[in-house]
Order: sequence, then C-alpha cells, then structure tokens
Amino acid sequence: MLRTPLLLAARSQTARTVVERTPMTRAMVDRFVAGADLESALPTVADVTRDRHVTLDFLGEDTTDRAQADATVRAYEELLAALGEGGLAKRAEVSVKLSAVGQFLGADGESIALDNARRIAEAAKAAGTTVTLDMEDHTTVDSTLGILRELRTDFPFVGAVLQAYLHRTVADCRDLSGAGSRVRLCKGAYDEPASVAYRDKHEVDRAYVRALRVLMEGDGYPMVASHDPRMVAIAGELASAAGRSADDHEYQMLFGIRDKEQSRLAAEGKTMRVYVPYGTEWFGYYMRRLAERPANMLFLARSLVTR
Ligand code: FAD
Repeated sequence: MLRTPLLLAARSQTARTVVERTPMTRAMVDRFVAGADLESALPTVADVTRDRHVTLDFLGEDTTDRAQADATVRAYEELLAALGEGGLAKRAEVSVKLSAVGQFLGADGESIALDNARRIAEAAKAAGTTVTLDMEDHTTVDSTLGILRELRTDFPFVGAVLQAYLHRTVADCRDLSGAGSRVRLCKGAYDEPASVAYRDKHEVDRAYVRALRVLMEGDGYPMVASHDPRMVAIAGELASAAGRSADDHEYQMLFGIRDKEQSRLAAEGKTMRVYVPYGTEWFGYYMRRLAERPANMLFLARSLVTR
C-alpha cells in the first residue's frame, strides 16, 4: 500500500527536503549507505571483502546538470584508482547509473552518458575490475541496453541489470545470455505501470524464476540479486542443474540487508557480492529501500517515538 506513494516521493523535491530534515533519518540512512565520501566508505569495503565481494555505487541519479555528471565520472575514476592501488580490485567492482552520468541531459544525453561510461570503463580496465550498469525506470531500458552494446565492443567486461518485473525481460535475458555476458537479475525497484510490468508479488517471483532459468541455461555469467530465500534456493537448484560451479555465477545483496545470510552463503562457498552505496545523494536510493519493506517504515516511526 505504501510502495507507490514512497516511490513517487523518491522523485519529489518537497519530499526530499522534508525527509532530509527529519532528525531520525540519519540513523536509517547509515544502515543502507556506507558513508558520505570515498574515505568513509573504504573501511566498509575492506571489512566486507574479508569474506564477500563488493560492487560500489557512487550515489546519484536523474542528473540534469552537465557539471554534476562530470563530477560523478571523476568520483568513479578516483574510486577505481583507489581500488587498484589498494589491492581491492580483485574483489570490488563498480555499479553505475547512466542517469547520473548524463543520460537525461537533453537530446545529447545518450551520447554524453556513453562517453562518460567509457571513461569509467577505461578506469575499471586500468584497475583490473568490472563495471555493471544499474537499470532505472522502464523508459531507460532501450537506451541503457544500447549503451551496454556499444561499451561491450571495447570493454567486454561491462555488465548490466535486468528487472524481472518487466514483461520484456525474458527476451532481454535471451539476448544477453551469450558467452562473456554479465547480467545481474533483480526483481525491480521502480513503480511501473501494468502495461509494461507485473505488479503482483507472486507474478514478479514467477517472472524472476523464468528469467533466471534462461540466464543459468545460457553461456553468460548470471548474478542473482535478491534477498528472497526462495529465489536464492531456486537459483542454487538451477545452477546445479545447468552444471555451473561457484565461480561461474554469483549472488548479490544490498549493504545493510540480511547481512548474516550474506556471510552464511559466502561460508558455504558461494560467490556473494554486496552492493555498497556511498555519497551524499542518498535520497532516491533510501526511499526505494523504504518502499521495498513496510517494516522499514515502522522502524522509522518507532525511532521517532522513542527519541
Ligand atoms: P523481496 O521479495 O522484495 O524481499 C525478500 C526479503 O528480503 C524481504 O522479505 C526482506 O526480508 C528482505 N528485504 C528486501 N528488501 C528489503 C529492504 N529494503 N529492507 C530490509 N529488508 C529487505 N533494482 C532496480 O530496479 N535496478 C537495479 O539496478 C537494482 N540493482 C540491485 C542490485 C542488487 C545487488 C540488489 C540486491 C538489488 C538491486 N535492485 C535493483 C533492487 C531490486 O530490484 C529489489 O527492489 C530488491 O532487491 C528487493 O527485492 P528482493 O529480490 O530482495 O525480494
């Protein structure tokens, strides 16, 4: 019931001002975000990579300012240099939202985003790690997959996210299930219309399994991004049935969610990667985490009452 209003609020400047001024927001943000800058995020990376892998997201999205898009690219270059120099690049890669590097900058947005993503991919290549393109709302999917195709010509290690709730995704999984292709499959975090997406939880779960089957039976590298124990169990069965070993698929969860389960799966010998966001532009990311789980709203309300 709260999901749609929370996801609408995620794109509202007024809601942003209210939420940012709410005193107990900070504690909740700290649960999901590793720090305001690279320096404060790196200890988390060092800690998590003791038993798991990491993908780092420099927070930001829906950028309408060229200078901000450039600053985001520089932040990724700095991050990737630090991963390379710190010996972390074997266990840490980066996730990038194309809307943070220019995709929405008018008629030239797509080519600006492509050029900027190229710079990030160059820096990842120099550091010896990989890049995954996050997927945003359904209006961006064709553009993001187009940019992915262009990037992969020179940087075949660039992967992308597909969202199981979209009707188109099984077909996209087929297109991206070839050798060398890295696909992170998630359920999907945006408020999408029924014309393009399943909206019922059970339908989304069934769609997730259909898409995952295509990826596991293909020749690429599937990345199972879900905290749902059923999806994780089914992924294990599909991987075994397809003859996959622990190093030709992986599991992914978000920083601050099911932490013990992440370590348990890693201890079982599975490749487990944690999505670690950092930076000051946390509002949209944080609101999507609230929308995913009503209990997070209760936690927020309780901390208000007990202050
Ligand atoms: P759900 O059925 O939503 O949740 C299963 C269980 O997980 C819940 O019962 C609860 O115990 C726990 N849980 C789930 N969410 C939360 C939460 N916020 N707080 C506390 N507990 C929770 N979405 C996109 O649209 N684009 C992306 O690029 C993208 N990248 C992602 C990358 C990673 C590594 C992950 C893990 C998710 C990503 N997502 C992305 C988000 C994803 O689409 C879902 O919104 C999110 O993962 C919740 O779905 P679920 O599969 O965990 O299943």
